[in-house]
Amino acid sequence: MISELQTRIEAVQQRIHTAARGRPVALLAVSKTFNAEAVRAAYGCGLQAFGENYVQEGIAKIEALADLRSRLNWHFIGPLQSNKTRDVAEHFDWVHTVDRLKIAQRLSDQRPPHLPPLQVCVQVNVDNAPTKSGVAPQIEELLALCHQIAALPRLQLRGLMSIPDPAGGASGHVLPDADAFLSQKFALLRELKTQLNAQGLGLDTLSMGMSADLETAIAQGSTMVRVGSALFGNRP
Ligand SMILES: *Cc1c(COP(=O)(O)O)cnc(C)c1O
Repeated sequence: MISELQTRIEAVQQRIHTAARGRPVALLAVSKTFNAEAVRAAYGCGLQAFGENYVQEGIAKIEALADLRSRLNWHFIGPLQSNKTRDVAEHFDWVHTVDRLKIAQRLSDQRPPHLPPLQVCVQVNVDNAPTKSGVAPQIEELLALCHQIAALPRLQLRGLMSIPDPAGGASGHVLPDADAFLSQKFALLRELKTQLNAQGLGLDTLSMGMSADLETAIAQGSTMVRVGSALFGNRP
């Protein structure tokens, strides 16, 4: 019997496949607010990478699914405060939301020696909105931070991540041409990655695109989409 979850997963995989036209794009299943059994069911349908926003909620799921630990990749995608870096360094495989050196240093220092290096992306605030987390989309500042992170022994710098706001920072209303607006933001992230790689950084990841805008992100070069509600349903 084909479950509703399986139907949703196949629909998302089809969307990615169509948008990517043969280029590989990874699917990160964002399981925040859904329980460990939902993750187990998604694993049963073939998914292996899961994203969590809240440290304690994520760790509870990782522990509840300890029997699958070697087969799953857990990505931390939420805002990260310095008092939570140890928990993240000890339990997760990836972090997408590094936006300052202090956090990166702590993650590297706290990454247990028996685990592989923590895979990290730097979050870029492509909207340049003062209230949002992420590094400003300026190449000099970003380049300096990326070189410092790349030198940390227990981290592997993989790329850039962003969460552009379809309302362009003007909360409450969606822009008339939100798609073109988002395209520009995703293109900016891709361009920053190209510039960083031209300066010797070997970044291979652009973490961009969610349920509503994954096609737009893939058209602009996303290598990993972070999809929640299109897979698991609307969050409570
Ligand atoms: C919740 C979340 C997602 C998934 O959003 P959907 O719209 O449910 O696909 C992706 N990325 C981040 C950082 C999130 O917090």
